[in-house]
Amino acid sequence: MPAKGGVALTACDVVVVGGGVIGLVTAWRVAQRGARVAVVDPRPGGGAAQVAAGMLAAVTELHHGEEALLDLNLASAARWPDFAAELAEAAGTGTGYRECGTLAVALDADDRALLRDLHQLQRRCGLDTQWLTGRECRKLEPMLAPGIRGGLRVDGDHQADPRLLTAALLTACERAGVVFRRREARELTLSGSGERATGVVLDDGTAVAAGRTVLAGGSRSADLAGLPPGGTVPVRPVKGQILRLRMLPELTPFLSRTVRAVGRGGQIYLVPRVSGELVVGATSEERGWDTAVTAGGVYPLLRDAREPVPGITELPLVETRAGLRPTTPDNAPLLGPSELPGLFLATGHHRNGVLLAPVTGDALAASLTTGELPDYARPFHAHRFARAAREVMA
Ligand SMILES: Cc1cc2nc3c(=O)[nH]c(=O)nc-3n(C[C@H](O)[C@H](O)[C@H](O)COP(=O)(O)OP(=O)(O)OC[C@H]3O[C@@H](n4cnc5c(N)ncnc54)[C@H](O)[C@@H]3O)c2cc1C
Repeated sequence: MPAKGGVALTACDVVVVGGGVIGLVTAWRVAQRGARVAVVDPRPGGGAAQVAAGMLAAVTELHHGEEALLDLNLASAARWPDFAAELAEAAGTGTGYRECGTLAVALDADDRALLRDLHQLQRRCGLDTQWLTGRECRKLEPMLAPGIRGGLRVDGDHQADPRLLTAALLTACERAGVVFRRREARELTLSGSGERATGVVLDDGTAVAAGRTVLAGGSRSADLAGLPPGGTVPVRPVKGQILRLRMLPELTPFLSRTVRAVGRGGQIYLVPRVSGELVVGATSEERGWDTAVTAGGVYPLLRDAREPVPGITELPLVETRAGLRPTTPDNAPLLGPSELPGLFLATGHHRNGVLLAPVTGDALAASLTTGELPDYARPFHAHRFARAAREVMA
């Protein structure tokens, strides 16, 4: 179909800008409902998921002031077993979903007080977590340091491998008929009156026309030209540096579950995979789009991970990476229709994009096909900040 000026035009029901884990899960779920879907991304399957640890940590990621997000996180964690099975069936490859549980440990009295406080918060939120003595922690994980002062056992916080997840989502999308345009989206296009989003123009000038446009550009979501002014997409990058070590067969089992601790440089976690990979993360830095790995990032991670698990100094360090978490002012995602008709948001998943993939796919597919955001996703509707910004200016 030729467009104005002789530029080729592709038409579809839904165009998704961004083929990270969130764009892909949205595309797959809506294609399953019969929509003609295109994903625009120069490197689909890339993004922050190539860096992420893959913790499905609804409970251990609970922070004071983020209680509203807990329900969404729990809803997604509950979907993970069926989601992983369905995706593996659709793609023919797995997601590394593993029901391993998590143990958050305290190294000294201060850590113990912090963990006790977290335990109280968890109980107030109706969560069933168990306080263990240091001895009980070491019985579960013998590689823990002898000085561990206690810990919280969270049997429902599991893991997936985000690299396997995105690979499976790519295949599932292809098999469901999703078309990939391996280019940058340069600009959102609007109807003649400017009242409706009608698709995007790519960096080669091609127009992709669509009844509905989903912005799933991760930390770069706000950069798309043509977005309405006024804080429509308040997403910024938060840098995370992360390490991958290899657990040696002679030290097996090194760790059987995810171990978390309060490090001197902030929260630290060690995520052991069946493949032998041990992921150690992560820093949290406000540095714009910088993705340099620095000595100042790697050093505290190793130092703080060695305190609860001294044996890590024996392990080969195989990879250091940095990625960008797409982050909103309240650390919760932006989901569903925006104030501009035809434009939907699926972004801002911050440190929980892997955990939230199943519930995001379901919520976006429902809102794209019925126009209604399901109840469980309503607190995270896409225009909550635009409305607040207008109220401040009024
Ligand atoms: C160090 C670290 C550890 C993490 N650990 C965990 C964890 O343990 N558990 C968890 O649940 N989450 C974790 N996360 C968070 C998780 O990785 C992110 O929330 C998630 O990957 C975000 O996915 P996304 O698809 O929204 O964005 P992204 O992964 O950033 O993908 C966005 C995609 O959009 C594309 N794009 C952007 N703009 C355009 C454009 N104009 N045109 C075309 N394409 C465009 C990009 O190329 C990219 O592929 C971690 C993140 C980091 C950095």
